[in-house]
Amino acid sequence: MISEVQLRAAILAIASTISAHAVELTDLDSAIGDGDHGANMKRGFDAVAADLETIVAKPLPDALKAIGTKLVMTVGGASGPLYGTLFLTLGKELATAPADYAGAFRRAVDAVAARGKSETGQKTMLDVLYPLADALAAGKSKAEILAIVATEVAATKDRKAIRGRASFLGDRSIGHIDPGARSTQLLAEAVAGVL
Ligand code: ADP
Ligand code: MG
Repeated sequence: MISEVQLRAAILAIASTISAHAVELTDLDSAIGDGDHGANMKRGFDAVAADLETIVAKPLPDALKAIGTKLVMTVGGASGPLYGTLFLTLGKELATAPADYAGAFRRAVDAVAARGKSETGQKTMLDVLYPLADALAAGKSKAEILAIVATEVAATKDRKAIRGRASFLGDRSIGHIDPGARSTQLLAEAVAGVL
């Protein structure tokens, strides 16, 4: 069970790492997109952190839904509705089955894929989210999970983008890490650091 203390720490850790890596995310997005992913993510998680006490006072499923709603309203771009869907669905699923974190995460990733009309291997955040869901379901350790995540982020470099703005570049998207894959890694590392 995730406590209010852990949730508060996780939100602050995410906001802090996204802020610290905003320039890196923007640089990744400048190479194959429009250079706003760092600013988008920072705006979103700063807004979540600004609402910290209201959010953590809620039961976990409602808190996750509140985070998702805030992200949808503030992140913008393609990633806002997608990360928003991830947190909203996590909240909905945990309201139904409070103990099944791995199942809730898998269904949340499926909801992101449905929202993005995308699948894993297309050089997006899903290239990291699905292996993460698999690793959680397999009961792997935190260190193993973060190693898998790091490998999958690096693997996006050699892929051609099939979804999102980067797909407009076709073969020229090859050779660059996907910004959304990298931001997913930052979220995973921040959460792993506090749970
Ligand atoms: P935008 O592309 O609208 O400028 P961002 O720059 O904030 O939005 O986010 C870009 C990231 O969103 C990409 O790096 C990719 O990981 C993710 N993304 C974009 N489109 C999709 C999609 N259809 N499915 C999954 N992820 C996507
Ligand atoms: Mg962008």
